Amino acid sequence: MRRGRLLIAAIVAAISLISYYSMRQQNPYTGEVQHISMDVDQEIALGLQMAPQMAQEMGGEDSDPEVRRLVEQVGSRVVDQGGAERTAYQFQFHALADPQTVNAFALPGGQIFITRGLLGHLENEAQLAGVLAHEVGHVVARHSAAQISKSQLAQGLVGAAGIAGSDDYSSGQHTAQVAAVVAQMMQLRYGRHDETQADTMGVRMMAAAGYDPRAMIDVMRILESASGGSGQPEFMSTHPDPGNRRQVIAAAIQREFPNGIPASLGLGATFTSEENSAEVPEAAER
Ligand SMILES: [Zn+2]
Repeated sequence: MRRGRLLIAAIVAAISLISYYSMRQQNPYTGEVQHISMDVDQEIALGLQMAPQMAQEMGGEDSDPEVRRLVEQVGSRVVDQGGAERTAYQFQFHALADPQTVNAFALPGGQIFITRGLLGHLENEAQLAGVLAHEVGHVVARHSAAQISKSQLAQGLVGAAGIAGSDDYSSGQHTAQVAAVVAQMMQLRYGRHDETQADTMGVRMMAAAGYDPRAMIDVMRILESASGGSGQPEFMSTHPDPGNRRQVIAAAIQREFPNGIPASLGLGATFTSEENSAEVPEAAER
């Protein structure tokens, strides 16, 4: 009996591992081979399905139409001029009302969010472009989708361990696994490789959209000082230390522009902080 369970567990574990490693997709944007179970259409559908719930977690969509428009405009410019428009992803940029949470994040497929808490700290359009470009990088590099496939593998292995340890099967197990994937998504932690890649791609995309990439180094300073107050901001708990990222970003800028930043790249409109809100640029200049 016990031996039978171990055999089944071994088979389940083997199937989990084989199916994970046999799912190989080459990312046309980064050139990397990734183990991802879903296709691009499924990523887009999943992102659209989760977007309202994620928005609700952080105060819902911002009530100020000008702030929403600003985020959409800068995000669209990064996508259209930064190269991500060549992908199948459908990007939508959301400004969320939560003034306390300092965060920006992306769902698979192109749903991208920034909170008023982070927006209120930003000083200019180029910094906003940098934050959004980093998130666009996570989307086109398919970091969430890869993470989900990895967690499915983990659950397959955990399931196998469960079979080995007990013969109590419940019909609710599958439902519980789906719920666990969603829960994991909610507090997704990207690895250092993913963050470095998103920062590197972000630098390239914001520069292609006409923004001075050094503004992203200023964002790291802003995140550091935001963490000086009441505990760690959200963005830091889901992202590595800004000090380390600063080095990654500086190196990416150096690689991209070994002869210095072209004079054509600028900071865009300046934001004046008025009750923690971002003023909308009337005439945005580069
Ligand atoms: Zn990130």
